[in-house]
Amino acid sequence: MEIKEAVEKSNSSLFEEVTRLGHEQVVFCNDPGTGLKAIIAIHNTVLGPSLGGTRMWAYNSESEALNDVLRLSRAMTFKAAISGLNLGGGKAVIIGDARTMKTEALMRRFGKFINSLGGKYYTAEDVNMKTRDMEYIHMETKYVTGLPKSMGGAGDPSPVTAYGTYVGMKAMAKKVFGSDSLEGKKVMVQGAGQVGGYLVEHLLKENAIVYLSDIFEEKAKAIATKGKVKVIEHDLVYETDADIYSPCALGATLNDETIPKLKCAIIAGSANNQLADEIKHGYMLMDQKIAYTPDFLINSGGLINVYLEYLGNHNYERAYQMADYIYDTCINIAVFSDDNNVSPQEAAMEMANKRIKSIGNIKLTF
Ligand code: NAD
Repeated sequence: MEIKEAVEKSNSSLFEEVTRLGHEQVVFCNDPGTGLKAIIAIHNTVLGPSLGGTRMWAYNSESEALNDVLRLSRAMTFKAAISGLNLGGGKAVIIGDARTMKTEALMRRFGKFINSLGGKYYTAEDVNMKTRDMEYIHMETKYVTGLPKSMGGAGDPSPVTAYGTYVGMKAMAKKVFGSDSLEGKKVMVQGAGQVGGYLVEHLLKENAIVYLSDIFEEKAKAIATKGKVKVIEHDLVYETDADIYSPCALGATLNDETIPKLKCAIIAGSANNQLADEIKHGYMLMDQKIAYTPDFLINSGGLINVYLEYLGNHNYERAYQMADYIYDTCINIAVFSDDNNVSPQEAAMEMANKRIKSIGNIKLTF
């Protein structure tokens, strides 16, 4: 059942839902003075403090906002755990239109709420949040990442995310085609944004055959001028005859409608929440013999980047080195999935939970 449906039904269902998803704490932040209405969801802090971005969005209802933050914070737990980071999962949403409601006072009030959690939750940028907002939050709390480089921050995470996606793609090529070379492989990249742009550079260097699409075709065309890239109309992405489909735009592109159209052997892209239904569509892909790379693993380069900032030791050399580990983890998950006949998504969740459990046990040992 959707969380929002549960919330709409009754308050006791909300607690049942939070228990089912495994959240430790959900904090409602309310400040009429600044108009701040925010929810911070702390999913799991066994491995370390929860870390995840803040999203500002004009949600249609409060329950929709709650649904989003519960789902996103849980995914952060899996992302950190599977990537070998000592972080837990958390996320925050601010309800409202960022274009009209965002003020310094609102951001700083939100920073005070984060501070009151004493380091159980660290924030970062997400949709509609800018580095400047992180600076305002930082005026009230030290529990914030994504600060500008000049303030000791990690800078743009997209190059590391794109590199991790590329490495994961190569791992899947090794598993499926027997070689991790992408030379001559047809790769359909959906989304000519930050990550898509850097990813295309890696693919061109390796002489892959690159197809690129964006709802704003001029963005794809601009990148296409840098090398041999064929621009595809955005509604023809799923039918495109490609070896690899790389979703680097928005979530939920793998659904009842799109999966039957896919001709690829591998899906490896950076978008969050690619499976519209993480169980059903994970198995639909398996039935179609398409190797899916769990999004929260393959796109963890960005989290790796801010993790180093959180540790106070950010440098790109270490970030890329840690992103290289994505290769082996992708292979391990694919093998686990084959051996146990479970979808890669479920295999990855199981491996993440295993790590949380085993490291949690070590922490209890004196
Ligand atoms: P971005 O906003 O820079 O780029 C996304 C691009 O996708 C935009 O150019 C947009 O026009 C395009 N787009 C939207 N809908 C589309 C559609 N239906 N078809 C084709 N193109 C479409 O975002 P980004 O930073 O490049 O991130 C891409 C994805 O990766 C997002 O889902 C993001 O959540 C995820 N992600 C990004 C990072 C990071 O470090 N930037 C880290 C983890 C996950």
